[in-house]
Amino acid sequence: MNLRENVHLAPYTTLQLGGPARYFVECTSESEVGAALAHARERGLPVFVLGGGSNVVFGDAGFPGVVLRVAIGGDQGIAFRDGEISAGAGAEWDTLVRGAVERGWSGVECLSGIPGSVGGTPIQNVGAYGQEVAETLVRVNCLDRTTLEHRTFSAAECEFGYRDSRFKRRDRSRYVVLDVTLRLERDAPPRIRYPELRDAIARVGSFDDAAPADAVRLVRQTVLALRRAKSMVLDPADPNARSAGSFFMNPVLSPEAFAKLGQRWEGAIPSFPAGDAVKVPAAWLVERAGFPKGYRLGGAGVSSRHALALVNLGGTSAELLALADAIRAGVEERFGIRLECEPDVVR
Ligand code: NAP
Repeated sequence: MNLRENVHLAPYTTLQLGGPARYFVECTSESEVGAALAHARERGLPVFVLGGGSNVVFGDAGFPGVVLRVAIGGDQGIAFRDGEISAGAGAEWDTLVRGAVERGWSGVECLSGIPGSVGGTPIQNVGAYGQEVAETLVRVNCLDRTTLEHRTFSAAECEFGYRDSRFKRRDRSRYVVLDVTLRLERDAPPRIRYPELRDAIARVGSFDDAAPADAVRLVRQTVLALRRAKSMVLDPADPNARSAGSFFMNPVLSPEAFAKLGQRWEGAIPSFPAGDAVKVPAAWLVERAGFPKGYRLGGAGVSSRHALALVNLGGTSAELLALADAIRAGVEERFGIRLECEPDVVR
């Protein structure tokens, strides 16, 4: 176990923010994860489990315990067999998606270009453009942080919801994800459910006569282009790049709450059905509450390409979180809705 002291966390996050971890350990196997957890427990230190760093904000003071970075099974270790994909938690998610698409397998192509590691995807049931990881996930292997016991969850046992799972609710911070297995379809045309994606595909090529494998590739290319246009793929040359993707969840409102919202705004409010409830784009609320794209407060700002992404413009975590607080207060005052932050905020 390679336990290092006073390791700056900023380089391990896509926001490039965060002070030092008192201890930092990179774990490449289940036994290393177990040893790091046992070490922390013996010394009474708190543990933060870090994956790709694309969904976390560390404070400027850093973290007073052990940051355990899960680096199990790099990109080379992703196994593709008969439509099934197994990957260690530390593999890069988009490497997995690229591998699936190269083989013409369908089921994750709409999830192209999402930054972060494989291990993070079941936690929040990552989804985009009408597809989510819950649809293809077969099982997740985990280590219980307290008992150090191994546990396997089927998709049904993960209790997935919209950007949600048991790992965010009743089992929050209980498990470390070790590896994930997905089952994809071979020789099946991709299903396109998202109008924005369908329109974008129609602009670049015809889907109807394409072989399934070509159609899957076309979807990936189109999703990557859509995400790039919103600065939602990691590109160091992009001034909006230092972000954690969407900073706020899209609120899902009861019909009554949506009717109340309507009383606060003259004109149409964009909304989408979500079961019996109504989903409202958080980006729309943020902009209408007075925080347009390109808005700046100190060393942080709203991405110039997407009102949902907060960007580190060379400032501090405190400045970024002050902007997030200002936006949440502004949206609450204007619309009576309290936005939930999507990234883990570790102050
Ligand atoms: P967007 O396409 O501008 O959509 C904003 C919101 O409107 C989302 O809640 C989206 O639902 C909803 N929406 C838009 N068109 C819809 C339709 N025709 N039917 C139903 N709902 C519709 O969102 P964006 O911020 O640019 O992101 C693009 C995609 O990436 C979205 O699917 C978004 O959810 C996803 N994303 C996911 C994560 C994550 O998993 N953590 C982070 C960032 C973005 P959906 O959310 O159901 O799509």
